[in-house]
Amino acid sequence: MLKLKNIHLDYTGVEVLKGINLEVEKGEVVALIGANGAGKTTTLRCISGFLRARKGEILFQGQNIQCKPPHLIASYGISHVLEGRHLFSHLSVSDNLYMGAYLQSNTAAISRNLEEIFHLFPRLYERKEQTAGTLSGGEQQMVALGRALMSRPELLLLDEPSVGLAPIVVEQIFSVIQKIAATGCTILLVEQNAHLALGIADRGYVIELGEIVLTNTGSHLLKSKAVQKIYLGDNRG
Ligand code: ATP
Repeated sequence: MLKLKNIHLDYTGVEVLKGINLEVEKGEVVALIGANGAGKTTTLRCISGFLRARKGEILFQGQNIQCKPPHLIASYGISHVLEGRHLFSHLSVSDNLYMGAYLQSNTAAISRNLEEIFHLFPRLYERKEQTAGTLSGGEQQMVALGRALMSRPELLLLDEPSVGLAPIVVEQIFSVIQKIAATGCTILLVEQNAHLALGIADRGYVIELGEIVLTNTGSHLLKSKAVQKIYLGDNRG
């Protein structure tokens, strides 16, 4: 479904992606893990068109999307949940969710989507009139996920959904991500919490200083000595 071929990207002359090759098949959950500054967010931003690669190709459902603007890429079925959520804090939960449907014109379909999202996140239904800025961090993450789902994406790009949340809330968010995956939505997940991400991923990639250094199934990576030592905090050697 998604293929990154030899993606190179520079920020002001410094190469931060050094030939990324990565694939996501339809229906998969794929985790991209790595240390701070490794290039995870940059990779996602490149896919959704916010950043332009200097070299390489990004294919989505066979079409080259590299160099296409973000609104076109969104219209092809890629939805990006940015790190930090970026909600319209003065708007209600419902209005934030409606914002996610800006590419759709069928009002009956929009209402059906909204119902499904409230079914997935009962907490948001209870708080649908509340302004987004007054929600807890976990609730805000739910709105960000719900808003992305309002466009009925084929591929969901998730950037650090666990950031800044208490462990119990992180568990809830990851359980919802698994439910979203079970609906058939394909997911590329960027996470610092490698344990959680690999725990739900079919496959994973490890990125170091702009290069993919390891790839395997989520369960193999979880058991890998190198991953355990560097990303799972196991220093027993
Ligand atoms: P984190 O987990 O901390 O978010 P990351 O793996 O997502 O890290 P990126 O945000 O993709 O890493 O950053 C990759 C590299 O690019 C870092 O060295 C970072 O400092 C650099 N970088 C990111 N954004 C910019 C920018 N706008 N201008 C210059 N350099 C940048």
